Amino acid sequence: MEQLTRYLELLNRDPQLAPVRGVFAAQQAKVARAHRKVRTARQDFLHRTTTGLVRSADVIAIEDLSVQNMVRNRHLARAISDAGWGEFRRQLGYKCDRAGRTLVVIDRWFPSSKTCSACGHVLARLALSTRHWTCPSCRTRHDRDLNAAKNILAAGRAVARGTVSGDACGADVRRQGPSLPRSAVKQEPRAARHSA
Ligand SMILES: [Zn+2]
Repeated sequence: MEQLTRYLELLNRDPQLAPVRGVFAAQQAKVARAHRKVRTARQDFLHRTTTGLVRSADVIAIEDLSVQNMVRNRHLARAISDAGWGEFRRQLGYKCDRAGRTLVVIDRWFPSSKTCSACGHVLARLALSTRHWTCPSCRTRHDRDLNAAKNILAAGRAVARGTVSGDACGADVRRQGPSLPRSAVKQEPRAARHSA
């Protein structure tokens, strides 16, 4: 790093290196443009996805994953940072609010992956690397993520219906956003003014 700094200083000072400076600057601009492009594409993808979700459902249930904890896990860090989970959640939150949808945020300790969505059996443990598993109780074969999604949806629906309270069955389930539509922008009555 120090060496790189020294090279850059040299590059900036040495008059003989002026043409190189130009090329270097052009390269930097190119890289910056590429980064901007990726950022815009990601933001665009997140907006399209969250808008689509909010339009298609009255109740949306998500798991409150701890981004910080997961980013500490190297394998997940990249995937989660790339997907922009925090931003995804933020957008879902305000878009649900705006559209009067119910967003149910399921606590991260809810055993969504370890619970059999068919019979309710809870596994003692499930390794992160296990993508498929068979329920020892009812023999249903599960895809890890699909099974978790089914459990999260079921919990979210139960909370939205009010049949399950927040902390039923050890799952601390929170509700976010109003269930009734409300006007997005509070409008001040405008005083009519007549000037002669
Ligand atoms: Zn089962």
